[in-house]
Amino acid sequence: MPNLPTYEVHACKYAHLPRKAHEVQIMADPHDGDHPMDYFVWVAIPLGEDGKRLVGGQPIVIDTGFSETVGAQRGRKMLRSPALTLRDLGVEPNDVRDVIITHLHYDHVGGWALFPKARYHVQDREMQFATSRHMTKKPFRHAYEVEEVVAMVRHLYGDRVVFHDGDGEIAPGLTVHHIGGHTMGIQSVRVWTRNGWLVLASDAAHYYWGIEDDKLFAIVFNVADMLAGYDKLKKLADGCQDMVVPGHDARVMDRYPPSSAALKGWSVRLD
Ligand SMILES: [Zn+2]
Repeated sequence: MPNLPTYEVHACKYAHLPRKAHEVQIMADPHDGDHPMDYFVWVAIPLGEDGKRLVGGQPIVIDTGFSETVGAQRGRKMLRSPALTLRDLGVEPNDVRDVIITHLHYDHVGGWALFPKARYHVQDREMQFATSRHMTKKPFRHAYEVEEVVAMVRHLYGDRVVFHDGDGEIAPGLTVHHIGGHTMGIQSVRVWTRNGWLVLASDAAHYYWGIEDDKLFAIVFNVADMLAGYDKLKKLADGCQDMVVPGHDARVMDRYPPSSAALKGWSVRLD
């Protein structure tokens, strides 16, 4: 057992989208029915040795959701602001210092303004990808918003971006890991919890069928990396499959208990 602080970890749902198999999966079975997508922001809150929240501990937010405007332009409705859910969890977005951006797609980076004091942790390869020749290809650039990429460049010049190349530590017991596949620079997050290592895959695995059956999500930069990424996620996690949390699977909301009675249907506790 590593001697590391543990975290409580929550998945905060902010949107939902009905999807069919052929819309989300490469080589989908035509009989395969509904694959609803949920949209999440995640938060890890440090705990003390007594299992209670550490006084003065810094919560770390993973992804920021989409902006309401961009979501609406893309036909996705913000159902509950992640800021509201975070506040209900006792996390004040205005005070958050570290936000991990798993990748720069609109539904992960678009809510950056909710965290005015934060530094954004991104992979070198993600920033490169979003400004590279690959963006001349519509399938690659479809999920990026130019203004959000430009905003990240502005943050860079404002000393608010921290780069990682591969594996990186954000805080003791909480690390990022480059995965690739879905985008060139997507990273996942590994968190030490009372149940062992929990992995927030984000979109390195959109659904459980990625990790469990090696099925491919429809938006992909590199198929080989996506498949190798599924293996890497499982290796990073401790034991059972519930220790890898996919990025958009609506079943996440059923697999874990609600964070509180009041947040039932909006937030689940993952650790
Ligand atoms: Zn996504």
